[in-house]
Order: sequence, then C-alpha cells, then structure tokens
Amino acid sequence: MANSPLQIALDGPSASGKSTVGAMLAERWDCDFLDTGMMYRAVTRMAIDNEIEIQDAGALGRLATLTDFSVSERDDGSWRLMADGCDITDELYSDDVNSNVSIVSTFSEVRKALVTKQRLIASERSIVMAGRDIGTVVLVDAPIKIYLDASPETRARRRTQDADGNSQDNEYAEVLKSIQQRDEIDSSRADSPLRPASDASVIATDNLNLEEVVEKIINLASNEKVVRISGMANR
Ligand code: C5P
Repeated sequence: MANSPLQIALDGPSASGKSTVGAMLAERWDCDFLDTGMMYRAVTRMAIDNEIEIQDAGALGRLATLTDFSVSERDDGSWRLMADGCDITDELYSDDVNSNVSIVSTFSEVRKALVTKQRLIASERSIVMAGRDIGTVVLVDAPIKIYLDASPETRARRRTQDADGNSQDNEYAEVLKSIQQRDEIDSSRADSPLRPASDASVIATDNLNLEEVVEKIINLASNEKVVRISGMANR
C-alpha cells in the first residue's frame, strides 16, 4: 500500500553489524531505526537497578509492560533509546547488562511485552528494525528481511580492533567467549530462537565492509521495488 509505513527486518547474532548497518540504511531511506536489543538491555538495566531477581519472569515482564519506549535520533545520526522519556542508551552496555541480558531475553513474559511495543512503533513510521526475531516473529510481513551473519571470530575481531586494526589478545579472547555464550543462549531458547526467517536474504559479512553490506541491502530492496512502492527516498 502506497502510504503504509515500510518495514525492514534486520536480524543476526551479536556484533554482526546490525546497529551500524541499520543506522546507515535509516539515513539513506530517511526513516527511523530501532535496535530492539536496546529494549532487552533496558529491561535488564532497570531490573538490576531495582534489585529485581534476574530469574523472576513475572516481575521482569511487568517491568517491560509498564515502561514506555521510544527512539530518538541525535544530530550526529545516532539512535537513542528513551525509557519513560529518559535517554537510557549510555547505561546499556556495561558488563552486568552484557552478562544478564540473554537470560532476561529468554522469558516469554518479557518478549511478549516488548514485541507488542515494537509492533506499535513499526506501525507509526517507516522503520529499519534490528534484532534476533524481527523477521520470524515481530514483523513477519516485512517485505525485506535481512539476516547478517559472520563467524564468531570475525565478530570478536571487529569488536576489539582499534583504528589500526590491532587488538589485544586477552581482550579478543574474552569478547569471543562472551559472543559464543550469547549465541548459544539466543539460538537454543524455546521462545523466538535466533535463526533466519525462511524468506530472509542471508548475507555473510566476513569478507565485506560496512559500505558493501549496505549496498547489497539497498540493491535487494530496489530489486524488490520496495523503496519505490513505499515512496521512501532512495538518496
Ligand atoms: O543486539 P544486542 O547484542 O544488543 O542484544 C542484546 C541481547 O538481547 C541479545 O543477546 C539477545 O539475548 C537479546 N535480544 C533478543 N531479541 C531481540 C534483540 C535482542 O532476544 N530482538
């Protein structure tokens, strides 16, 4: 439909480049970007701060239900997560959140509440939405579904490399271990496990840079005539 918001589903494991690629696509198409991982991280952050037991699915679900989430773009093109009107983004990537977020994300009570909010956000404006279950659960009718993949080693290397391409061995080993642990929990959980949707285009990014990944997705979208039909700007 000409005036319905366009939905682009962008899934993949941790550190596969979804956030950077998603923000670049949103800029290109002049639409919103939501990294749903931030919402799971925000529930984890608030649970820790409020001393809610990390195994208490009911309390975590209530927290997810009662929090109002929205996204906001900064002048520098980065996308921030607002929780009850406050920018919570800088508090979402600490070690305590990293080590608990995949556990919080296994609970259906949390997922159900957040998926409802994600669908509402996607119904209001055209959006690129990144996560683990966007193509399989959240936006099953999205006309473009992308699954970004890369080996755990490539992803750990990207996370730890400095501007010159060097990384500390001990930091690399730690990040690799954390990525493998999160992959395992995310792929094996009963509710909405990490996997590509049957109609997703899987892009192996090991040998591609960010610009090449973005170009591939833009080509896929224009082949599907999605951008033209929706009236989104393909600048
Ligand atoms: O993408 P990011 O690494 O920030 O996501 C943090 C965690 O949130 C993931 O490891 C996963 O457990 C969970 N998540 C999820 N479903 C999503 C997005 C993230 O379960 N749609």
